[in-house]
Amino acid sequence: EAKSAGKACYRVFDHTMRERAELRMKLEEHLHRAIDNNELRIAYQPIVCLSTGELTGAEALLRWQHPEYGLIAPDKFIPIAEESDLIIQIESWVLDHACQQLMSWQKHLGEAAPRCIHVNLSRKQLILPELPERVSRTLQKHQMAPESLHLEVTESMIMEDIEVGITSLKALRKSGVQIDMDDFGTGHSSLSCLHEFPIDVLKVDRAFVANARHVQDYAALLEAVLVLADNLGLNVVAEGIETKEQLALLQGLDCGYGQGYLFAKPLFPEQFEELIRTYSQHPEANFACVAVGD
Ligand code: C2E
Ligand code: MG
Ligand code: MG
Ligand code: MG
Repeated sequence: EAKSAGKACYRVFDHTMRERAELRMKLEEHLHRAIDNNELRIAYQPIVCLSTGELTGAEALLRWQHPEYGLIAPDKFIPIAEESDLIIQIESWVLDHACQQLMSWQKHLGEAAPRCIHVNLSRKQLILPELPERVSRTLQKHQMAPESLHLEVTESMIMEDIEVGITSLKALRKSGVQIDMDDFGTGHSSLSCLHEFPIDVLKVDRAFVANARHVQDYAALLEAVLVLADNLGLNVVAEGIETKEQLALLQGLDCGYGQGYLFAKPLFPEQFEELIRTYSQHPEANFACVAVGD
């Protein structure tokens, strides 16, 4: 009996493994054509000043509109792209389009437009020696001030490739580009290393935000991170703010900036513009309203 169960198990396992492998291979194959076929999309999520409710920036978050499978989240295909150099091509596309989008918004929406665009980098991109040169060429192409670009890296990426990565980040910062440490608190960096990392912004992972109200330790850690960031002269963006309670807690701790479903989900450009237009025509209805009203 155990034998047949084992056999059945094996067959199921074998089947799903093969299916998964096939799907993965298919995705990889399709991904090569995704750029040329114009299937990649960027959603933009607002980043908000927590004390004024002002829109300050937007994070560019990649999606893949697959003709057969529909909208695919980045977690599903970025790891596949990262296994080959395809990720370099995809991220160059994201950087180029995100910069173009920001400049277009600033031109058409004026003061109401976000001031900065945040773009995520992969490990492969970070260790490309020519990264600073590529970024500066893209900025020039769009006549965009380096200060308007934030590049997001994670702690683990910096830890793994400390030499090349840090050299690039230093060069980028020197040129005026801002560096964000994404998902802060989920990696393994020691806090004492933080002052050596060439960064401007700490993006505190949403695990801290989500748990701070219920788990004492998280609240204490969150507070400690905010004090630390303040002492190091770093700005803080709290990720994943979903409730007014979370927002109130962060405001109480003087956290500078936030991002999360409470303000807006990642939006495609047309929806993003609609939101900005509404807020600029009805100033009383800006993100501060979310913050204080109920
Ligand atoms: P991330 O950079 O930490 O981006 C934030 C993620 O949290 C996004 O997921 C966003 O939709 C989600 N999020 C924002 N607010 C909330 C909230 O209130 N609640 C919850 N539960 N989630 C929230 P998304 O768009 O699925 O992206 C996932 C990850 O994929 C990103 O995490 C980033 O690491 C990666 N990614 C996205 N675009 C790119 C890209 O162009 N290049 C690279 N290398 N990675 C990217
Ligand atoms: Mg990010
Ligand atoms: Mg993040
Ligand atoms: Mg994250």
